[in-house]
Amino acid sequence: MTSFALTGGRVIDPASRRDGLYDVIVSEGKITHIEAPGNLAVISVQSLLDCSGMWIVPGLIDPHAHLREPGFSEKETIATGLLAAAVGGFTAVAAMANTSPANDREEVTQYMLQRARASGGARLVPVAAVTKGLEGRDLVDFDAMIQAGVRMFSDDGLPIDDEATLTAAFREACRTGFAISLHEEDRALSAGGAMNAGRIANTLGIIGIPTCAETRRISRDLALATEPRTPIHLAHVSTAEATELIRAEKRRLTNLTCEVTPHHFTLDESAILISGPNARMSPPLRTRIDVEALVEAMADGTIDMIATDHAPHDPRSKCWDELKDIFGPHKPARRLSESQAQALARAANGVVGFETAVGLAMSLVHRGAISPARMVEMMSLNPARLLRLPEYGRLTIGGPANITVIDPELEWTVNPGNFVSKSRNTPFTGMTLKGMAVTTIVDGKIVVNRLPNSGAHNVS
Ligand SMILES: [Zn+2]
Repeated sequence: MTSFALTGGRVIDPASRRDGLYDVIVSEGKITHIEAPGNLAVISVQSLLDCSGMWIVPGLIDPHAHLREPGFSEKETIATGLLAAAVGGFTAVAAMANTSPANDREEVTQYMLQRARASGGARLVPVAAVTKGLEGRDLVDFDAMIQAGVRMFSDDGLPIDDEATLTAAFREACRTGFAISLHEEDRALSAGGAMNAGRIANTLGIIGIPTCAETRRISRDLALATEPRTPIHLAHVSTAEATELIRAEKRRLTNLTCEVTPHHFTLDESAILISGPNARMSPPLRTRIDVEALVEAMADGTIDMIATDHAPHDPRSKCWDELKDIFGPHKPARRLSESQAQALARAANGVVGFETAVGLAMSLVHRGAISPARMVEMMSLNPARLLRLPEYGRLTIGGPANITVIDPELEWTVNPGNFVSKSRNTPFTGMTLKGMAVTTIVDGKIVVNRLPNSGAHNVS
């Protein structure tokens, strides 16, 4: 291990309420000093990273991502996913359980952790399934999974329909203290739907997914949580109504948290006219009113964290062959034929998110909707708390050096051709963003460095 100094940057660390110019020294994997500039003259380090004009923040943590391995390595592998995450500024990533086989037993968790150790990039934080085979019936062995290294439980992608099963899962969450992350969807209301219900779905001739598919399920699930301290996390909330429900329920449920994705706080349902299947996800993109409500809920603390829901897919899973003539930047789609509408409904849900998340979150900061400290809290401290990683999400002397350096002013245009992720399914192609993670340090190791004037390291 080496030692190095990050000099002259603006340290933003919500846990200690530090926000100002500091030099940070890392040695043997730990943070050894955080000092006002000029105070470190006597300390010798092997290398200097000039962070003038940059933000130095606790390593970003993504509480919700799909790394696709085992089972779907044509879309992503643990190695490519963790490297893409690090390039996006993430030092740790919660990897969802809908792999094949699902992460419902210790051997799968151990396999994932072992693959992660052999990769560079971000740290992998395993999420276990709540139910065996993600089938919504029999609970996994919570104790065995926690023993194997799991930090959260989720059948993400699938709601847990059976009330008795969910009630039993809440009891396990309460007993162990590890959160259950819920995908809130009433499938009786969303069946056959491919986008938000409303005018655009009607124009295109696509079956819509109404707001109540999300809110009815949130109401039901939270009503089943009779013990107020049950650790419950709501994945990817998408509607204004959901934010109101959660705001009210947080008064009763003391361990209720929720997340929002960059695509849901940036785009509305009209994105599908250009991006087609690359703007198809579950829950769907909603209206501009919903987007504004989500941003407001991020600012007022109702929404606790940002999650990418990084969901890589190959073009075939997105049915691009059947849809490529309809969607594109120069020809917003009109009414779809029946077979095209069916292709869109068949297209897999989800978008890649690691490499665009910081730029999209920064656009909220630049327009004054959230403060820099709030952004860091939502992308680092709060996910660390959810995943019960007490040494993460903060910059502490003596603590592990998980650090992200952000260039807040760097303007760049999203080009999926440059993604490190194996997949390219983004609705943000061609968008110009301001702000980018330039350096990512995971447990004291510089895994990505694009700082000018800092010498040797590039993406390693
Ligand atoms: Zn997901």
